[in-house]
Amino acid sequence: MQNVGSVIIHGQNGLPETLHNMSDSTRKPWYADGLPFQCQGCGDCCRGPGGYVWVTQDEAEAIADALNMNFQDFAQVMLRRTITGLALVDDKKGDCPLLEDNGRCRVYNQRPLQCRTWPWWEENLVSRDRWQDAATRCPGMNKGTVHSMSVIDCEKAKDF
Ligand code: SF4
Ligand code: SF4
Repeated sequence: MQNVGSVIIHGQNGLPETLHNMSDSTRKPWYADGLPFQCQGCGDCCRGPGGYVWVTQDEAEAIADALNMNFQDFAQVMLRRTITGLALVDDKKGDCPLLEDNGRCRVYNQRPLQCRTWPWWEENLVSRDRWQDAATRCPGMNKGTVHSMSVIDCEKAKDF
């Protein structure tokens, strides 16, 4: 998956970068008017080497169940343990092993929080530039339904 993990970037004085991008007069973040996002189902965020799809133990067990696999068998072929936690392995192409050829997720209803909260990740919401940069890799960003600031902040707070 692109956009490796969750990188919470801190600005000067240890304040989250988002606060530095707030207007002094309103104290609202740059996305106060909401942001459009509608997944186009391309699967691009699930492709490409070098990324990590982080999973908790509970998420891994739920995915194994969704695949009707014994957890030990699932862990052997689908999981890797890193110094920062559990992640799915990459397939031979470097893609998420749960990505189907048609670009769909095999365990959509049990996909990990990392996948559920895209694109409302702190690293994307730090600034408009960071959002636009991420949008070059995700055709769903800046399209479709406008999500309100409160919805965005709620999703951001779930950041894995
Ligand atoms: S539109 Fe974005 S979120 Fe949806 S599958 Fe494509 S890259 Fe992923
Ligand atoms: S678990 Fe599903 S949504 Fe998440 S990266 Fe893999 S295929 Fe994509």
